[in-house]
Amino acid sequence: MKPSTYIEISKSALKQNHDFIQSIMLPDVKFSSVIKGNAYGHGIEVMVPLLEEIGVDHFSVFSGDEALRVKEICSDLSTVMVMGMLTPEQLIWAIEDGVEFYVFDLYRLERTLEIAKKLKTKAKIHLELETGMNRTGLSIEELEKASQLIQENQSHLILKGVCTHFAGAESIANYYRIKSQFIRYKKLIKKLKAEGIEPTLKHVSCSAGTIRYPKTQMDMVRIGIMQYGFFPTKEVMVNYFAENQMVDDPLRRVLSWKSQVMSIKEVKTGEFIGYGTAYFASKDMKIATIPIGYSYGFPRSLTNLGNVLIKQTYAPVVGIVNMNSISVDITDIPEVGIGEMVTIIGRDGELEISVSSFSDISNQVNYELLVRLPDDIPRIVVD
Ligand SMILES: *Cc1c(COP(=O)(O)O)cnc(C)c1O
Repeated sequence: MKPSTYIEISKSALKQNHDFIQSIMLPDVKFSSVIKGNAYGHGIEVMVPLLEEIGVDHFSVFSGDEALRVKEICSDLSTVMVMGMLTPEQLIWAIEDGVEFYVFDLYRLERTLEIAKKLKTKAKIHLELETGMNRTGLSIEELEKASQLIQENQSHLILKGVCTHFAGAESIANYYRIKSQFIRYKKLIKKLKAEGIEPTLKHVSCSAGTIRYPKTQMDMVRIGIMQYGFFPTKEVMVNYFAENQMVDDPLRRVLSWKSQVMSIKEVKTGEFIGYGTAYFASKDMKIATIPIGYSYGFPRSLTNLGNVLIKQTYAPVVGIVNMNSISVDITDIPEVGIGEMVTIIGRDGELEISVSSFSDISNQVNYELLVRLPDDIPRIVVD
């Protein structure tokens, strides 16, 4: 049975985005698919098999919770890497199950060694270096201690990678900060090498870094937003289009969000629509109720501002966004019936409601709006 509201995931769009990303990747660079935040709202359980189908075998997540979900469904040949939180129990599990993870302070390194020794196994770690973001990462002093511990415990550790993260590669305003981060990173790598430590994978680049500063691709890139069909910012997009004399967007949105008309009603001039006095009908109107509201992540701030698409036409939101429904104006759209397909995000004919148009109004970035899409809206894979 088709649910009343669902999110469509387009396989062909995902493939197209991956082909584009491959085209901007230098030879022999490995691709890690960033699927934190429930795969940016697309759904981990839906995305992992689709990504594996197109050849992805490396997944980056934020937490142990997410890693558990990925491990449940991913191929035995795929690698899962945790870039952030692991509870003490999750750390044990990760080491036992061969899940790779960031070591960004001495505390985690010491716990890791204790556990690996107890389990008589080797933990697979990525050392995260502090290069100027000042979020997580080993400072130069901590790195000395860490490299000593690594040297002494070769039988309990595999140093899979050495990494860092840029503090805003998507904005040219951060150019000098990013550049100095990269310089510091390379210095620290040299220092590690001098101490006899050679990581398999050097990785620093997210989507913006990969496209804007190709030299930062090193051995592996960690790509999130672009695989879902979005440039990290308008600035990155405009810059890329200008440099490559392109006009057509090489990326395609993977996700669309659909619902259907629940009820239709005529409203007379002079009446208010919905709660309170938020919307006043200044003409005779036809209103459709759509069963999605802020409980589904449709921002309440789109009250009187948002649009949906019905029969390839914009239908503006009238009145307050409710918990479970919105009302939209269909006065000028002929022959709308109950059950009519409604596009909340995505394309209908020539028109599109983009995540960014949605988020421009509600003052969220693409990333934020996407990850807020609730887990419990069913995901449906289409071609
Ligand atoms: C989220 C994240 C990425 C991916 O960023 P995108 O801009 O979505 O490509 C890469 N690395 C780290 C450490 C991250 O947290």
